[in-house]
Amino acid sequence: MLRRIDLRGRALTAPGADHDLRSAVPRADFDVDAALDVVRPICDAVRDRGEEAVAEFSQRFDRVTPPSLRVPAEVLARSLAELDAGVRAALEESVRRLRATCEAEIESDVTTEVAPGGTITQRMVPVRRVGLYVPGGVAPLVSSVVMNVVPAQVAGVRSLALASSPQAGHDGYPHPTILAACALLGVEEVYAVGGAQAIAMFAHGAGECRPVDLVTGPGNIYTVAAKRLLRGLVGIDSEAGPTEIAVLADSSADPAYVAADLISQAEHDVLAGSVLVTDSPALAEAVDAELERQVPTAKHEDRIRTALTAQQSGTVLVDDLDSGVAVVDAYAAEHLSIQTRDAAEVAARITNAGAIFVGPYAPVSLGDYCAGSNHVLPTGGCACHSSGLSVRAFLKAVHVIDYSRAALADVGDHVVTLAEAEDLPSHGAAVRVRFAGEQG
Ligand code: NAD
Repeated sequence: MLRRIDLRGRALTAPGADHDLRSAVPRADFDVDAALDVVRPICDAVRDRGEEAVAEFSQRFDRVTPPSLRVPAEVLARSLAELDAGVRAALEESVRRLRATCEAEIESDVTTEVAPGGTITQRMVPVRRVGLYVPGGVAPLVSSVVMNVVPAQVAGVRSLALASSPQAGHDGYPHPTILAACALLGVEEVYAVGGAQAIAMFAHGAGECRPVDLVTGPGNIYTVAAKRLLRGLVGIDSEAGPTEIAVLADSSADPAYVAADLISQAEHDVLAGSVLVTDSPALAEAVDAELERQVPTAKHEDRIRTALTAQQSGTVLVDDLDSGVAVVDAYAAEHLSIQTRDAAEVAARITNAGAIFVGPYAPVSLGDYCAGSNHVLPTGGCACHSSGLSVRAFLKAVHVIDYSRAALADVGDHVVTLAEAEDLPSHGAAVRVRFAGEQG
């Protein structure tokens, strides 16, 4: 079922091979760049015509015009009251685990005395207002409410707005489970809008929604393209687009587990990428046989089959695990699962991945919901420079410089020398003026 990319016999660990490998790993044809042309007019229209344009795009793409852009408080409260008890318990456990991780990861202010009387304090300041996006087009990703809201709250963000696609089957508001999760976490400002128009609403403001400083959250290719387009006007967390899984496996892996993991992420989107990297042709054959067995039993068989047989999915055959590590580093997967002997040791050698799942009992779907890690992760190779969502994404580091007169006097000559070396003598003068009339 998976197409084969045979990289055996190639020197994949040689210096410089990384660059060539990036073009050898599977990627979707329709990427964020291609989607920019689609989302530019949407974002421009929301900037120019606000709520009216948002309503038009909801009607065009979601086939519904919500009764109001902002979800009324009573609809949020009713959704929570009607939430299934089992789903509530699972959400609460997901929140508990992620909150524990976030609280442990929060960075404190750090003060360094660089010279007597001269201190630098790195102050961690929460972003003032944030727009959180929760996918709702293909499936109602209630888990993304948890993944966005919990780190923002732990970071101390005061103003949170959340958006998700309107649903024709639910009075035009987002899915009730998403609304219930918002109410459970105390999020009161929720908007019925999806995709690029939601990101544009956050960036420019529309209707009741004031502009935000930072947009976070996952989404499809259009949502991510809007984040790329509007980056700068607003901050973004990362390009967390159509899901990817890479499984690095050797002959010790259980093909049924590997196939199930590849299928679980293909279930997200026809553009999802499922990639197996292995040094074992026998495992590749066995995983293919498992896919043929498991895919027809899946509820979303068509979507999964489309994703698995598309350009962005495949099996990469390599000579050995060192070459496998080079391939997965070049791919920089959103999710990397290591199903090899000594999986922890192999995992420690990986540089580029959004999140790494070690061994047979840490499936990626655990991380999607309840591991205590965050599931909002960079895609499309962005894991070589970006991180998954965390408390850090909602904090800014501000340096506070505090020097006494004596401390400035001590270093003043160096400032003047460097200012003159840059031919910016007024910079030096701003130091000298403070000691005018004193002997050098
Ligand atoms: P979504 O909620 O981002 O997008 C839905 C919206 O897309 C719709 O409301 C609609 O307005 C818009 N849209 C649909 N067709 C369009 C078109 N032709 N032109 C312009 N806009 C259009 O996402 P979704 O569709 O529900 O899919 C969820 C996505 O999120 C999947 O790709 C999944 O893999 C991804 N995801 C990523 C991560 C991550 O961290 N990387 C995590 C979870 C989910």
